[in-house]
Amino acid sequence: MSAIDDLPPLREVIATHQLSARKSLGQNFLLDLNLTAKIARQAGKLDECDVLEIGPGPGGLTRGLLSEGARRVLAVEKDSRCIPALQEIAAACPGRLEILEGDALEIDPLAHLTPPIRIAANLPYNVGTELLIRWLTPPEWPPFWQSLTLMFQREVVERIVARPGTKAYGRLAILAQWRAEARIAMSLPPGAFTPPPKVSSAVVHLTALPEPRYPANAKTLERVVAAAFNQRRKMLRAALRGLAPDIEDRLIAVGLRPTDRAEQVPLEGFCALARNLDG
Ligand code: SAM
Repeated sequence: MSAIDDLPPLREVIATHQLSARKSLGQNFLLDLNLTAKIARQAGKLDECDVLEIGPGPGGLTRGLLSEGARRVLAVEKDSRCIPALQEIAAACPGRLEILEGDALEIDPLAHLTPPIRIAANLPYNVGTELLIRWLTPPEWPPFWQSLTLMFQREVVERIVARPGTKAYGRLAILAQWRAEARIAMSLPPGAFTPPPKVSSAVVHLTALPEPRYPANAKTLERVVAAAFNQRRKMLRAALRGLAPDIEDRLIAVGLRPTDRAEQVPLEGFCALARNLDG
């Protein structure tokens, strides 16, 4: 048994530190350490990686990541009430857990991490999508992270892995799938959390590709995709009119039907249109 296994059960940690869940911070805790170890295993081989964890809360997933062998974990938590509980974990595995108290949207984790870096988190719903979009749209590619293993509401995960021709297909699917391999790793019912949320959750695993699947300028691609899906019920020729006066000719030139809707266009088609607009 390692010192991490000797730590008290999470229910006890929550009681000792009076960590009643706060809705405003998106707090739905995972208290089953078998489950958090299972999620940590979805993150891949951890022993040669630093892991960035956002929102460790009382530390269930943190304990999973450490017991699955993460070289180091940087845990960023906004709720100061959780810090003493996390310090107990840090004391059980000296030099392997660094705790940063603060808002994940404001801190720069890179100053604290050494590559290769993986990100794993049961994300607070109020900042989760914003963080994901930031991680998917860095100024340079490849990004600072090798993989993302993230718990979201099931509906968000479905939007990340969505294929063309489905309702869930949109900006998030394209941003994610253009430069990463995305798959659903696990599904979790509301009862896995304390308190249980209203909806089901899922873990998505994204692996950064060394380069984009199809060439395109990231800014142009984002502009095209935003315009196309902002008016997803409109035909492409109308939704994209603002991008170029001769958009209909350009759509035809890259093999897209001007009368199709954004939902029908595969990733490759959006990339081809972005290249055409730049070229
Ligand atoms: N990882 C824990 C678990 O699985 O039980 C807690 C997950 S809970 C869904 C989300 C956590 O994110 C909470 O601990 C909450 O305090 C924290 N949090 C919320 N907003 C945050 C922010 N902007 N920056 C960092 N942590 C935040």
